[in-house]
Amino acid sequence: QRRSRLSSTYTVFDCSLHEQAMRRLHIESELSAAIKARQLKLMYQPVVRLEDGQLLGFEALARWQHPELGQVSPAEFLTVAEETGLIWPLGQWVLEEACTMLSEWQRQQPGAALSLNVNISPQQFQHSDLVRQVQRAISKSGCRASGLNIEITEGAILHDSAAQTIAALRALGVGVQVDDFGTGCSSLASLHRFELTALKIDRRFVDNLGKDKASHGIVRAILMLAEALNLSVIAEGIETEQQRRDLLALDCVAGQGYLFAAALSAEAATRLCQRRHSLAPNTLTSG
Ligand code: C2E
Ligand code: MG
Ligand code: MG
Ligand code: MG
Repeated sequence: QRRSRLSSTYTVFDCSLHEQAMRRLHIESELSAAIKARQLKLMYQPVVRLEDGQLLGFEALARWQHPELGQVSPAEFLTVAEETGLIWPLGQWVLEEACTMLSEWQRQQPGAALSLNVNISPQQFQHSDLVRQVQRAISKSGCRASGLNIEITEGAILHDSAAQTIAALRALGVGVQVDDFGTGCSSLASLHRFELTALKIDRRFVDNLGKDKASHGIVRAILMLAEALNLSVIAEGIETEQQRRDLLALDCVAGQGYLFAAALSAEAATRLCQRRHSLAPNTLTSG
């Protein structure tokens, strides 16, 4: 009996492994064409002031809707892109698309000082032409660089040339933020060597804020560290009013998450900029 259960499990596993491998192969062969055919699009998740839900800016998040494979998650296609070198043209498309959007928002709302965050993968960040790639996207779109923030991972700043690359990006006027902060292995002591502008608290700590003491302590430690280094902080993955309150009580000023909004289409994000309406949870808007 035990044996039959095992073998049936095995068959299921084997089959899904095969499907996974086929899907991956499919993704690999289609990704390059998808970039050229503009099958990818960017969605924009609002970043807000936690106190009142005031819109501060957006994070651009890539989406791929494939005619047969359906929605392919960034986790899936970015891994393939990194392994095949397609991350470079993909990253270029993301930067150009995002800067064009930012430029339009800046033109429509000259006084708004909205920011747009763009994720840069570790390999893209290490590429010797990265700074020029960013600069080209800025000048091609005509956006003001001060509105653009580059998000890098903790892993990316472990690399030798990181300090120089970050300094060069800052010289363009671009902000540099560390994404998913607290999950990597960057040494706290070395952070001050980089001209960073913000830390983004990984959503796993936000998620566990009310559940375990350790997460609460980690969030508090990140906020203290940021203050000492004169960096801004953005909390990620805020889903509940309680989390918003806990973060506010710890003096965390900015955040993003489903409590406020998921990633929006370009049209919806543009409408939000125009309305300048705050994304406050119900308890706040009723005031
Ligand atoms: P990330 O940069 O940390 O982005 C935040 C992720 O959390 C997004 O997932 C977003 O949809 C999701 N999220 C936002 N609010 C909430 C919330 O309240 N609860 C939960 N559970 N999730 C929330 P997404 O869009 O699937 O992206 C996953 C990762 O893929 C991103 O993590 C980023 O590392 C990467 N990525 C996405 N777009 C790009 C891109 O254009 N270029 C690069 N290099 N990486 C990208
Ligand atoms: Mg990010
Ligand atoms: Mg993140
Ligand atoms: Mg992440």
